[in-house]
Amino acid sequence: MIDVEDLIALVHNYNPRANADLIRRAYAYGFLMHDGQLRKSGEPYFTHPVAVAAILTEQHLDDATIVTALLHDTIEDTKSTYTEVARQFGQEVAELVDGVTKLTNLQLSSAESKQAENFRKLFMAMSRDLRVILVKLADRLHNMRTIRSMAPEKQAQKARETMEIYAPLAGRMGMQWMREELEDLSFKVLNPEARNSIIRRFITLQREAGDVVHKITADIHTELEKARIEADVYGRAKKPYSIWRKMQEKNLAFSRLSDIYGFRIITADVADCYRILGAIHQRWRAVPGRFKDYISQPKSNGYRSIHTTVSGRDGKRVEVQIRTRQMHEVAEAGVAAHWSYREGVRAQNPFAVDLAKWIASVTDRLDAEDNTDFLENVKLEMFTDQVFCFSPKGDVIQLPRGATPLDYAYAIHTRIGNSCVSAKIDGIRVPLWTRLKNGQSVEIITAEGQRPQASWIDIVTTGRAKAAIRRSLREEDRGRFVKLGQELARVAFDHVGRKVTDKALRTAAKMLGVSDENDLLARLGSAEITARRVVETLYPELAMSKAEEVDAKRPIVGLTADQNFRRADCCQPVPGERIVGITYPKRGVIVHAIDCAALEEFEEQPGRWVDLHWHAGRHAAVHTISLEITISNDTGVLGRVCTLIGEQRANISDLQFTERKPDFYRLIIDVDLRDVEHLHMVMTALEAESDVAQVSRYRDVTRKP
Ligand code: MN
Repeated sequence: MIDVEDLIALVHNYNPRANADLIRRAYAYGFLMHDGQLRKSGEPYFTHPVAVAAILTEQHLDDATIVTALLHDTIEDTKSTYTEVARQFGQEVAELVDGVTKLTNLQLSSAESKQAENFRKLFMAMSRDLRVILVKLADRLHNMRTIRSMAPEKQAQKARETMEIYAPLAGRMGMQWMREELEDLSFKVLNPEARNSIIRRFITLQREAGDVVHKITADIHTELEKARIEADVYGRAKKPYSIWRKMQEKNLAFSRLSDIYGFRIITADVADCYRILGAIHQRWRAVPGRFKDYISQPKSNGYRSIHTTVSGRDGKRVEVQIRTRQMHEVAEAGVAAHWSYREGVRAQNPFAVDLAKWIASVTDRLDAEDNTDFLENVKLEMFTDQVFCFSPKGDVIQLPRGATPLDYAYAIHTRIGNSCVSAKIDGIRVPLWTRLKNGQSVEIITAEGQRPQASWIDIVTTGRAKAAIRRSLREEDRGRFVKLGQELARVAFDHVGRKVTDKALRTAAKMLGVSDENDLLARLGSAEITARRVVETLYPELAMSKAEEVDAKRPIVGLTADQNFRRADCCQPVPGERIVGITYPKRGVIVHAIDCAALEEFEEQPGRWVDLHWHAGRHAAVHTISLEITISNDTGVLGRVCTLIGEQRANISDLQFTERKPDFYRLIIDVDLRDVEHLHMVMTALEAESDVAQVSRYRDVTRKP
């Protein structure tokens, strides 16, 4: 184990002004807290936090980060607490340690590849400070370096996580060396055979061709000397994993793989970079399509360098990267360069990562608004517009901020959303309008027969959920309209002595340019098309005779010329409904609907019954019926109701309130109508009005005929 003075010396190398006392206290505290704990390897546990701190010194990180590394497992694994860490080491360190603890507690194990990107974003979202991720990456790097003492199954799981989440994360942070090492350590666990075979090929190659790296380095040096440019040249064989990946991607055997060596030329200034490029291209042929100038066009993570590939010695392809020393530092440290120290001060590197640009590149957020303050504090507020939650299986679901369990349910599947009855967050039942927070696990409880409620529209924030709810509500309406349409069609067809058949409806649908019979019925029910029009379309010859106006004075067939008649007040029959007459000696005939309850008392007097039916044709709007409606007590509602009735060309002949409550009114409106179809049109129009809670035909048997 590195002792505390050695660790301090490592820090002092790059930051002579580092707070040695603070590091000493953190070291002593961590040592004390982890006392008695052992790693799987049998070593004292505290060797791990110290090794993590040492990795971070290689990145020249600030005191707070080094101290956080020493303490990073104390809140999680020892009796230490946030408050205690804050008291002894300050708020900044406590928050950093807490951030690392939160990441450690995430259950990543069930992550599938397609989820990895979400996990990486979740990491960012949960780490309000990038240094939390730097510590976590160093932590993972050390754990991967020492993974051999773990059980094989655990090794595989950690290696997969590392390959899918941590290594790409290191890449996005701009730390290529760490990415490569994490990948290679994982590769060693996940596919040792492949890795070994690549290493064996390297050994064979070296035996055949000698030390290629050494030879090419010498070749390059010769060219640089000729051109009188000062520069360092570093060559290396590529890591087994990146070679293996190339073999997979290009489906090539190792022997056919061309660029397995990479060279770096590091020089003093930008002008030299281009002079070196010229010298290299003059000596060796450039491979077309492989030249990239990231100096004039830096990558979003701040990376600058010139890349080219040339056909070198024996036609072997060689990749060459050319950059200045400062660019090289950024390429190695990535985002970490922002905190790195040199000679006791924050390193001022003109090529250091532009955090605003970097964050924009990670978040895909294009607007780089004025967030100078935010950059000062290095708070990762970049995901404020998003929230990441877990499914019970451990999948990460990405939602916009403000999303509720209902949005989550619809994000999983429309069916889950539609049948959602309640939700649990972290195992606790919550109302559906609860706003979700990062890292929460969400469980949706569904029930068969549950339908989306109109009120859900206001609860959800995602367009997907809103669209699904609207669609479902519309379909429900449609179901009601189809039923109503069936009833209207039956009445209208009866009227002309025909039967409603699927075939007839299908034909009518086609003739009216409607997609099918169900659509036709729905349109009938919603009064978009009248039943009369359907009948006229199918039976134009009947329509001819019907087209005439029925005499308003004699609308009923079956009465003698001298018989007076009156519609019964109890059932208020209208044309289109089946009717029957009861004769009275003086008053003539009272016309009832066939199902009127008042007819019961005449059952013993068959002599008084007269068979009647309405005249075919267009009736005048003179048949009064009563509607009972309930409306909300808001300004203008009653006026709107009257307008709606008027728009249907029906006349209101009376109106009386039966109930006045603070929030609603109930009233009976008498309306003069043509026939049953007209009645349905009026009722449909009223039902569609959102302030009408209920509308029904009012039939009062106690009203004497
Ligand atoms: Mn750890």
